[in-house]
Amino acid sequence: MTTKSAAPAARATVYGYPRQGRDRELKKAVEGYWKGRVTADALHAVAAGLRRANWLELSGAGIAEVPTGDFSFYDHVLDTSVMVGAVPGRHRDAVAADATDGYFAMARGTQDVAPLEMTKWFDTNYHYLVPELGPDTVFVADSTKQVTELREALALGLAARPVLVGPITYLLLAKPAPGVAEDFQPLTLLDRLLPVYAEVLADLRAAGAEWVQLDEPALVQDRTPADLNTAARAYRDLGAVEDRPKILVASYFDRLGDALPVLAKAPVEGLALDFTGPAAANLAGLAAVGGLPGKRLVAGVVDGRNIWADDLQKSLTTLGTLLGLADRVDVSASCSLLHVPLDATAEKDIDPQILRWLAFARQKTAETVTLAAGLSRGTDAIAGELAANRAALSSRAESPLTRDPAVRARVAAVTDTDGRRSRPYPERAAAQRAHLGLPPLPTTTIGSFPQTTELRTARADLRAGSLDAAGYEERIRAEIREVIAFQEKTGVDVLVHGEPERNDMVQYFAEQLDGYLATRHGWVQSYGTRYVRPPILAGDISRPKPMTVRWTAYAQSLTAKPVKGMLTGPVTMLAWSFVRDDQPLADTARQVALALRDEVNDLEAAGTSVIQVDEPALRETLPLRAADHPAYLAWATEAFRLTTAGVRPDTQIHTHMCYAEFGDIVQAIDDLDADVISLEAARSHMRVARELAAHGYPREAGPGVWDIHSPRVPSAEEATALLRKGLEAIPADRLWVNPDCGLKTRGWPETRTSLENLVTAARTLRGELPTT
Ligand code: GLN
Ligand code: ZN
Repeated sequence: MTTKSAAPAARATVYGYPRQGRDRELKKAVEGYWKGRVTADALHAVAAGLRRANWLELSGAGIAEVPTGDFSFYDHVLDTSVMVGAVPGRHRDAVAADATDGYFAMARGTQDVAPLEMTKWFDTNYHYLVPELGPDTVFVADSTKQVTELREALALGLAARPVLVGPITYLLLAKPAPGVAEDFQPLTLLDRLLPVYAEVLADLRAAGAEWVQLDEPALVQDRTPADLNTAARAYRDLGAVEDRPKILVASYFDRLGDALPVLAKAPVEGLALDFTGPAAANLAGLAAVGGLPGKRLVAGVVDGRNIWADDLQKSLTTLGTLLGLADRVDVSASCSLLHVPLDATAEKDIDPQILRWLAFARQKTAETVTLAAGLSRGTDAIAGELAANRAALSSRAESPLTRDPAVRARVAAVTDTDGRRSRPYPERAAAQRAHLGLPPLPTTTIGSFPQTTELRTARADLRAGSLDAAGYEERIRAEIREVIAFQEKTGVDVLVHGEPERNDMVQYFAEQLDGYLATRHGWVQSYGTRYVRPPILAGDISRPKPMTVRWTAYAQSLTAKPVKGMLTGPVTMLAWSFVRDDQPLADTARQVALALRDEVNDLEAAGTSVIQVDEPALRETLPLRAADHPAYLAWATEAFRLTTAGVRPDTQIHTHMCYAEFGDIVQAIDDLDADVISLEAARSHMRVARELAAHGYPREAGPGVWDIHSPRVPSAEEATALLRKGLEAIPADRLWVNPDCGLKTRGWPETRTSLENLVTAARTLRGELPTT
């Protein structure tokens, strides 16, 4: 088959590229600069070198128009705040004294000045720094970074397209600055912001930009008609700017929906849409507006946030349907390649047969180039690539890794009963009370205790071979002994073993489950200089042997008090891994859930009466559009119940989530049917306790009374006061006393005092309870 058309030749492009460099040079340079070991000049030279290398690599691979401005020392939303002059008052002196140091002060804070708040970029695991705006915000254009980077690329003789966070998304991601009324709407600042964008656009045009890309992912979320009107006004005004580059408005992560007609009508020259998951919806939307006559359409067909080789034939078919819907159709990854690791061929430990299923940033770039060639010159022109791609896809589809008959049979046999506890909550609660014999207001922790340098060193030594398995085992056991002894002495009621054996709450389990792949160089930016290597859910998941039982059982052997078993839940396992794209997420979740269910049941059989299944990611993986929430929450809560429902009524299931904003998923929390939930609450003064109560949450809850995100030690009085607030919402026989989250990032000294204070607070309030 040959796809030929009269349209101009399709070009390949990307919106952004991994920033850190092959050997994470950027991380080393930035952290070296923070420590005073790298000069500012050296830091800037490393950055310029990395940008240049990326552009040359992209253009060498056949990318027609390289992105500029996507590079960042820390975060591109912070860069945007600098570009529009939205520097918080408390950082202004530092920025004036030294732009680089001031920038890092905004990102990380200093001894005396708090950084900007950090939060997740849409539903990815990338974190951005939240702009702080208020009615007094004055925007001032500073196009230096954008212009400099554009000039660097142009000087290499390349066609380049600056990529900026669009004004609507920038304002929608902002929050009221400290001291500003909570209901302040940053979007009301649009009229002040637009002239600044206009100035930047003019500067970029003057510097030689033909096109500029304005990213508006906030428009793929549910927006009110008023927001959409504001967006229409923004692009009408920007479209009217004289001497500006052509504007490409980019959307990704979901369908544009009602925003599509708005942007289609706007006086801009191009639109970029996500044609991966949201392909059908976006295609229908385009058809409904009669296409984009006279405009450029950039089709994000290659999945920019997962690591699988593209189905080239399928993408070509999608691209074929787009021809004729716009003046020209170009090909791209669906979003910036920032969200995937750099190069799959660096993974020497992955079987080459499996490696060809994978595509990281470098491979995805090649795919977009291939697709553009196929679109403009016909499939014959890419016959070799198509054949290799077909072979790779079928080897994946037929591999025993992706199709384990035993796992499939087990999933197929799952019934409703498997996902339901054998007794309703009230009966379980009575059985657990009798079995555990806990006091009212029982005290516990969330699982981890401080991950000391000695523990990390022991793990590194084990990997390096300088510590043998027996030596490592003894090191961990010694730590468990210490943690148990401390909790006993302090008077904690439900103990934990402290999780000293865990490098990371997802990786630890991924390494022990069949069907998961690990990478050695698959670093992805999480925030600033922090990079993570998410494991890959590659095949059917099963658990060859117990993963945590020996540690928990050892801890239990040291004490007569109950020791809580600790597991990471199925939703979080998916959220912090790269997921399969060849079956619904619900199927993968069910497989992981069954593997974890075995662990839960084995813990119970080994004498564990309390088992906690952490789901901190339940809220953050919520789809961007409300219409998609019910389907997600249905499989997510089902997976949790499948993990936990196999235990006896008198075994107590706990769960933990660490965020304060969960108002929109209270029902889902209820649907988990966990016996006890612990949540972050200290900073929000127990708001979650009131929200749970308002919802009529019938089970036990532990709103955190110690904010573990800071080294501050809460006094016993402070914890008591928070507990009193908690008691106003939740009765004493259902209220637990615990910190906000795990203690792995804390030091021992503050952990000791804080936990002692927590126990004191619980005892004080117990003394005040009416005796029945
Ligand atoms: N059990 C984990 C811990 O204590 C929970 C961590 C989390 O919620 N992110 O470390
Ligand atoms: Zn937590």
